[in-house]
Order: sequence, then structure tokens, then C-alpha cells
Amino acid sequence: MNIRGIRQELLNLLLELGRESHPHEFVALLKERDGVIEVLNLLPGTVTGSESASVIFDMMPLDTHLAGSAHSHPSGAIRPSDADVHFFPRSGRFHFIIGNPYGPGDWRCFTADGDPCRMEVLP
Ligand SMILES: [Zn+2]
Repeated sequence: MNIRGIRQELLNLLLELGRESHPHEFVALLKERDGVIEVLNLLPGTVTGSESASVIFDMMPLDTHLAGSAHSHPSGAIRPSDADVHFFPRSGRFHFIIGNPYGPGDWRCFTADGDPCRMEVLP
């Protein structure tokens, strides 16, 4: 399945979750429908570090509509940590990092390898 982009509404929700979870991280799995990322599965509780997140991802069942993941960086550094690069390949192809202060432009999308990638925002 080719991913065409992420739904604007979902992106707004991710930024809101970042604000609400601060100073903790939130972690969510993202699913696509007809090539558009528009469904979010929030993982229970918040975690304080990406190492905890990788433990949670280990327990996730395989899902064919899994598009990737999203999580926040309360530090504001919008780049994958070493732990992030370790769990990205196990949870889909596209990974969003939402950074403090969680404004409209405070996010980036990365591939499973941890490289920045372009992501269309669809109305
Ligand atoms: Zn991270």
C-alpha cells in the first residue's frame, strides 16, 4: 500500500496529544485507510523515555494496516533518538516526532531508517 499522506485532522490531534502529555511523552500507532494515515491507536499511559516505548512496541500484534508511529519529544529536539531508530523498523514505515512547543510546524516525519522524509498533509 502506497501512503499518500496524513490527514490534517489527525496531525492536529497528535500536536494536541503532545501538549496534553507534556512533560511526558505520548506514544501512538498510526494506521492507514486507502493510503491515507488517519487512524490513531494511543498506547495506554504515558512513558518517560523511548526505551519504555520500545518495550511496548515489542508487545504489539502485527497489523497489516499499520502505517507507522507517532510520539512526542518534550525536549523539543525533533530527531530520532538511538532507541527510536531501534524500534521504528518494527512498527511500520513512517514515524512522526512531535516536539515541544507543539505548534503547527513542530513535527517531522521519518522513515523506518530514521531519515527525514516528506509527508503530504491532506485536508
Ligand atoms: Zn523519541
